[in-house]
Amino acid sequence: MKDVAEKRDIRKLDLEALKSFFIENGDKAYRAQQVYEWLWKKSSKDFEQMTNLSVETRGMLKEHFVINHIHVDKMQRSVDGTIKNAVKLHDGLIVESVLIPNEKRMTACVSSQVGCSLDCTFCATARLKRMRNLNPDEIYDQVVAIKEQCDLIYGRPLTNIVFMGMGEPLLNYSNVIEAIDKITSHKGLNMAARRITLSTVGLSKMIKKLADDKVKFNLAVSLHSAINKTRSSLMPINEKNSLEELSEALEYWYSKTKKKVTYEYVVWKGINDTRTDAEALLEFCKKVPSKVNLIEYNAIGDENFQQAEEEVLDMYKDVLEKHGITTRIRKSRGKDIDAACGQLANRS
Ligand code: SAH
Repeated sequence: MKDVAEKRDIRKLDLEALKSFFIENGDKAYRAQQVYEWLWKKSSKDFEQMTNLSVETRGMLKEHFVINHIHVDKMQRSVDGTIKNAVKLHDGLIVESVLIPNEKRMTACVSSQVGCSLDCTFCATARLKRMRNLNPDEIYDQVVAIKEQCDLIYGRPLTNIVFMGMGEPLLNYSNVIEAIDKITSHKGLNMAARRITLSTVGLSKMIKKLADDKVKFNLAVSLHSAINKTRSSLMPINEKNSLEELSEALEYWYSKTKKKVTYEYVVWKGINDTRTDAEALLEFCKKVPSKVNLIEYNAIGDENFQQAEEEVLDMYKDVLEKHGITTRIRKSRGKDIDAACGQLANRS
């Protein structure tokens, strides 16, 4: 038997590579199909579960490969029903993922990177340095773990997935796309792409790439200000990737996909709480068909940031809705367990 360290992670092989493996080892090519189904559709964590394979075939797989599955290390449940998972990866690193139940939906919020390289000043994850990208299987497994929790704890199916956990998904482009391909494939979880939303700080080049790649999922952009100076002070990425470039990329996105963009926006006292800020957002929204989610700020222990009063949110909603921009005011979920937006990794 090979040393564990020498064995390959079997889920790095696609179906073709698996076929080649079986042929090279004197077995039948159709085995690949069976194994692939166990690995993805059935999320097997152990070769022993693959009961339609012979003992010899299972033995051969064990000799060459490992299945690097994630492991839910700790599960916390909020008073509002939100569940936060600390997910341990095969190399011991931890990411977080969240299940958010409401009357209509069961939403999985998943991470795409360990830590984050963008320094958004209001986000807890930004305080961790970026350690590495998640592999497609590590993203896929977070969804599987939450899907199981939906069934077991709530007896309801998982309906939606949002890439709003730790990390910037567009800085881990190919792995995120591969994970989504598997999640939406009938060979995987068979979920509808229109139920998936990718949230980004708004990297223009990558947004154009999404459009060129004709993706079928939804796009959300963390905007927080439509005034360059203010946005740059909140999100340093805006210095290199200005609002003008962003809106040009979003126009391109819309021209190719015909999908509305969602803007995520927090209103803070003394930062972006004036009518001028709201009107700048309105002008930005007019450029590309879009809607706005005014999301609640989740404190991460920095006194410079205070959630604006309700009247200010109503003012924003009023300015936007007068011009036909759908605007929702979103309450946070899972705050008591630090599972809300921007709180991931706050205490772990
Ligand atoms: N990197 C991606 C996805 C992760 S963040 C992105 O930036 O979109 C998911 C959402 O939470 C983003 O809209 C982000 O701006 C928001 N967020 C970050 N910190 C927050 C906080 N403390 N309170 C409320 N929302 C926060």
